[in-house]
Amino acid sequence: MSSKNPLITEFDDDVVDLTKRQSAALAERLIEICALYTLSKQLNETIDIDNLFNKADRILEECLGVDHFSIMLLDDSGETLSIWKASGLVTDAVGNVTFKLGEGICGMVAKTGKPALAPDVSKDNQFLNYKTDQIRIGSFYSTPLLTGQKKVIGVFNVHKPEPGTISVNETPLYNAAARNIALALENSRLLRAAQQIAITDELTMLYSRRYYKEAVEKEISKARRSMAPLSLIFLDLDFFKTVNDTYGHAAGDDVLREVARLLRDNTRQGDVCARYGGEEFAVLLPGADVKEAVLSAEKLRSAVERKLSVGLVDGFPIKITMSAGVASLSEDVQTADGLMALADNRLLAAKRSGRNRVCHGSSRLDERAKTIYREKRSSFRSFTRLLASRKPCGIRSMEILVDQRWLTFAVEDISKTGLRGVVNFKPENGKRYVCRSIISSHDAEEMMFSVSCVWSKNIGKERYLTGVQVEGVQHDWNKTVQLTL
Ligand code: GH3
Ligand code: MG
Ligand code: MG
Repeated sequence: MSSKNPLITEFDDDVVDLTKRQSAALAERLIEICALYTLSKQLNETIDIDNLFNKADRILEECLGVDHFSIMLLDDSGETLSIWKASGLVTDAVGNVTFKLGEGICGMVAKTGKPALAPDVSKDNQFLNYKTDQIRIGSFYSTPLLTGQKKVIGVFNVHKPEPGTISVNETPLYNAAARNIALALENSRLLRAAQQIAITDELTMLYSRRYYKEAVEKEISKARRSMAPLSLIFLDLDFFKTVNDTYGHAAGDDVLREVARLLRDNTRQGDVCARYGGEEFAVLLPGADVKEAVLSAEKLRSAVERKLSVGLVDGFPIKITMSAGVASLSEDVQTADGLMALADNRLLAAKRSGRNRVCHGSSRLDERAKTIYREKRSSFRSFTRLLASRKPCGIRSMEILVDQRWLTFAVEDISKTGLRGVVNFKPENGKRYVCRSIISSHDAEEMMFSVSCVWSKNIGKERYLTGVQVEGVQHDWNKTVQLTL
């Protein structure tokens, strides 16, 4: 134990003087008290849990001379102890060792809530030495980590290589250190729980709007530093007021919860899903470029259309649908506000063009797209009008997404609900595919929609004549026609 310890700044001079004047034993006690004081003070000032450990680690090693120790925490079920943090040697040797409640000395300590000392481990048949022979342990002390309510949350183990080197006199010190560590862990957990509540939407358990906006800011800085793509999607349920008015607010709430579940199930781990407002949702997609984001939005839109319904009319479920606007970081759009405004504009465009669809576009095309929306309504409506009228189609090109690649779909004919054309792969009957089309040569606007394959026929080497049904057209066909008139 060193009396010249840089960590014990406030007491250092006093301790040095005392060491010189008083007995060595008294000086050691004082150093221990100072170390505990410093430990308690630093742990109380620390809320970040890893930082908390680093501070505890230094004080334990440098002030209390505890070279070998481990802090083991119980899992949520309270049945299994695993190592949360440990001194270097222990970490290297034991890896992910776990102990059941009651197993070994530490398992017993966790079970009973009472400390245990094994001055010579060779004489203690409960001792399991972290289930390894990689560490030399002669004496071992384990003391419980207790919360303010005396609940065991884990154990603090101290050990030394030689037998008989941990004495009963030292144990109050380790108990005091364990109390400090347990309280700091509890505080940190409580704070994290409070922070989690603050950033979570109560109804859907998605992130809150405030958290989402902060995440957008943060991810934009990251994306700009690493030159990585970043996209976001704004989503809004269609005609949701009618759902509430017809089936009641509680049924509306159920729908919102279901939408949240679908968002969670259909996004990647790093994506941030949030409830942005009443029936508005937002998804942030770090690392996704515009194409990936559009696919993701289409997946979400289609999941809602396929899986959500409320009530029955004439025996048919009333489907819930959702519109989406997608925006990506680009040379023209570099700020969080800019990106969100763009996604919002595109969501509005999706609404204006008939709902239940995804709207996107490069920012270069955006001004043109706005004009198109104003003057000619949306391309999808033109598309559905084409479907309705059976006129020779104005589709300049059409593609179908297969295994993440866009393949040509050479359209030959259009009916009221579907298309017929030639593709260079064997489509599966009943399977859904995402398609995109450019409606006409002068409206350079892409439209995404899903189709399902009804039939296909081989007409040559890797050429299949196929008939597909356009999804969504049947469902709100009347509405679309009315809107188009
Ligand atoms: P649009 O397709 O244009 O989006 O039509 P809409 O009816 O969805 O849009 P509008 O903005 O007029 O209505 C949104 C509705 O969302 C109004 C409100 O009743 C409902 N809403 C907002 N928050 C909640 C909520 O927490 N629970 C329920 N059940 N409904 C909500
Ligand atoms: Mg709405
Ligand atoms: Mg809305």
